[in-house]
Amino acid sequence: MSLTEKVKEISELEYHQDYDLTGFTTMRLSSRGDLIEVKSIGSLQKLLPLLNAYSKKYLIVGWGANQILPARCEDIVIHLDFPFDQNYLNELRDEYVLPASIGLNHLTGVAVKFGLKGWEVFTGIPASLGGALFMNAGTNLGEIGNLVKSVHLVTKDGHLRIEDIHSKSFSYRHNHFVGPGEVIVGATLIHNGTDSAISQKIKDYLEYRKKTQPLATKNCGCVFKNPSKEFQAGRLIDLMGLKGLSVGGLRISPKHANFIENTGTSNWDQFESLVNIIKSNMDHFYGIEFELEVKIPYH
Ligand SMILES: Cc1cc2nc3c(=O)[nH]c(=O)nc-3n(C[C@H](O)[C@H](O)[C@H](O)COP(=O)(O)OP(=O)(O)OC[C@H]3O[C@@H](n4cnc5c(N)ncnc54)[C@H](O)[C@@H]3O)c2cc1C
Repeated sequence: MSLTEKVKEISELEYHQDYDLTGFTTMRLSSRGDLIEVKSIGSLQKLLPLLNAYSKKYLIVGWGANQILPARCEDIVIHLDFPFDQNYLNELRDEYVLPASIGLNHLTGVAVKFGLKGWEVFTGIPASLGGALFMNAGTNLGEIGNLVKSVHLVTKDGHLRIEDIHSKSFSYRHNHFVGPGEVIVGATLIHNGTDSAISQKIKDYLEYRKKTQPLATKNCGCVFKNPSKEFQAGRLIDLMGLKGLSVGGLRISPKHANFIENTGTSNWDQFESLVNIIKSNMDHFYGIEFELEVKIPYH
């Protein structure tokens, strides 16, 4: 029996071959490849050992808000879509046990409702919980890593693993515990009590983000990591006069220079060209080597 036939025998997943993946990243670069939508932890526990036994590479796409995919994606794309009863969020709890596929926007809703201290960090970050944990997503208000008690993962041989979180589990936009081939399936989140001022803080911060970031465009968030707290990537690109520069349908956002917007139908090659122009200018003018924040498979 072929790998494809074996995968199709697993219940609670959908296997789409040669699928249009363009809509699976917020940047919407044209992409095609094989997609597996996984609907339960149990089916993921069967899928991962199978793919590994056949040495078939895979990558996880959450909201695809910090990821771009090539025109032809050779790795299998795994997307989690676990069922979740939203009523669970209608109660104030000390801890919330949540699936990786839930969107941070739902958690912001809970933060507003109960005034959960700490949860204002989710404000405006487009992400699945799994992607946010993998990236240690955060804003000026803080990072998600400070709100995590434990992360639940499926290992590549199909075991469920609980990672207890400690002070060294995360660093800037990085986790230190997801092993090769492992997939985050959920997490237990905590908060720092309640405060009625949180709701207003979230509203104010959302307004600020709308003014400073091109949230209504097709983009992948910040393309480059900030070289340091003093040297913000967007500011440096702006100082070089590169705002608005375009390659094909891609352009450096006039609103925030660390964002690249897809204004039409664009592809991976155009993205790479624009990134290389920015990088060589950075090197030439400042002698700084820019590191990508956005995840690009095969790099
Ligand atoms: C308009 C805009 C604004 C943004 N603003 C911010 C911001 O303020 N702060 C910030 O930190 N980020 C920001 N981002 C980037 C992005 O929202 C974050 O990086 C977010 O954490 C990505 O989550 P995701 O679900 O989209 O992950 P994806 O982009 O799908 O994946 C990101 C990485 O995580 C891995 N991954 C995803 N899910 C899992 C899983 N379940 N198990 C294992 N690995 C997994 C992927 O393989 C990939 O390597 C912004 C993006 C956009 C488009």
